[in-house]
Amino acid sequence: MAGRKIHSFYKGIFSGDVLNFSKRSPFVREIMLEQINPSRVILPMKMHYGVPAVPTVKEGDLVKVGQCVGIPYSKSFSSPVHTGISGRVTDIRDITLPNGIKTPAVFINNDMKRTRLDSLKSRGSIDLSAQQTIGVIRDAGICGMGGEGIPTYAKLNRARNYAVNELLVNCLQSEPYSTCDLMAIVEYPDYVVLGALACARACGATRVRFLISLGRKTERSALENSIRKAKDSFKDLKLEVVLFRERFPQGYYRLVAKALYGKQLEMSDTLEQTCGAVLFNCSTMLACWEALSDNIPMMNRIISVSGNESGGHNMLVPIGTPVSEVLTSAYESTKTESRVIWGNCLTGIEIEDPENTPIIKMTSVISIVRKTEIPTTPCIHCGLCSECCPMGLSPNIVYEMLVQGLTQKAAEEGARDCISCGSCSYICPAGINLATSIARFANEGRIIEVNSLLHNTDEEPGEEAGVEAAMVGQASLLEEFPDKEDSRDETDPDSIILPFDGGKSV
Ligand code: SF4
Ligand code: SF4
Repeated sequence: MAGRKIHSFYKGIFSGDVLNFSKRSPFVREIMLEQINPSRVILPMKMHYGVPAVPTVKEGDLVKVGQCVGIPYSKSFSSPVHTGISGRVTDIRDITLPNGIKTPAVFINNDMKRTRLDSLKSRGSIDLSAQQTIGVIRDAGICGMGGEGIPTYAKLNRARNYAVNELLVNCLQSEPYSTCDLMAIVEYPDYVVLGALACARACGATRVRFLISLGRKTERSALENSIRKAKDSFKDLKLEVVLFRERFPQGYYRLVAKALYGKQLEMSDTLEQTCGAVLFNCSTMLACWEALSDNIPMMNRIISVSGNESGGHNMLVPIGTPVSEVLTSAYESTKTESRVIWGNCLTGIEIEDPENTPIIKMTSVISIVRKTEIPTTPCIHCGLCSECCPMGLSPNIVYEMLVQGLTQKAAEEGARDCISCGSCSYICPAGINLATSIARFANEGRIIEVNSLLHNTDEEPGEEAGVEAAMVGQASLLEEFPDKEDSRDETDPDSIILPFDGGKSV
């Protein structure tokens, strides 16, 4: 350890204090190993950045585990959707997700038989070209699981286009009550490492760096063991574990750029172009290797279920599982007396209807927190919000400007840089909800910028566009890097290949 560099960005909230909930509440390891088999799933056709997929099933159809139920039509920027349960399609209708996104959804009732597609089996030897690797990842419907929801194939294409030197794996999970990524590392370290190495080769990177917090010793040692095992087969890649100081938030690409490369990225900069690197979440890497090695599409994910009222759980659940079934499985009842948050308690969204709110590809945690009324007082100018803002803003000043309608001044103060981390609201002793207004303003600004860059228009964004920007955090212009190998003919429905339906040979 002596002499080893510990990376960190400036500010944020330090772990080891009140935010370190996940260490306080013991997580039940065994529960993660037991896959929940819910009575039904609700599969939104849009869980990702891009346009919704189109349902490939109809009411009354029987489906098997792993079957594709939604596919990007023609050459749209989208991602396919697969079911993690077998059973009958009972409905296809529009729903609205808690983040405001309206999307068609496929409802499936579970026959409890877990009948799997025959194609869900090991590929044996994995000798894929870069384009084949990216094609499998595209057809498996893999999207960034750390919350960004960007289709992974598009990010790999962009990385190839910019000829990145290194692939970074974000193992820095720091959100309160969340340890699902860390659990994925402990339980499936070989998959995380092999997924990262395969993706590095696919995008032409020569170095892979696993970013992990100093205090995560178990996870680090699991990674290091797997790296040792994989080294001989990947002699062309330089592999390294990089340590970060513990704090919240971690892993956001602009903060990683600052901590790792000493570069201050502007909103329109990409990590690929500015630093020659591409960043993926460790759970996304696990999903990639499941697809590449076992032909398993993105149909399950590990989530944390935890809060300040009860112990924590990590569970492997089919995507689309209603939140109510997760709560019942974890706590034998739905905690109606508590607030149920879709996401972490700093940046997540409180939900009223757990029965009809699904776990989606980007849901990493369901937080259950006490209902408390925090008395709000005027700002006492303590400066704590400025001390913790990772983007170097003065949230109290920006907030006041927005309240007074001085949006131009707020923008000049850097309000568009807000990354919606929620730290300022959390820390404020006056109970002022600074983050909501600042983050909304920042997200609105981003979508205007995206529209003008992408479509050369200064049209005002609609409600849905605002949500889209909120979803991706930062605009990424990934549409510029569509899959060049996508040979589907939009005028010929027969040319559409149903991914993982019958086993696509690669
Ligand atoms: S929510 Fe925005 S303003 Fe508040 S601390 Fe985070 S980045 Fe700064
Ligand atoms: S933390 Fe709250 S009370 Fe303190 S300066 Fe910021 S807004 Fe004012």
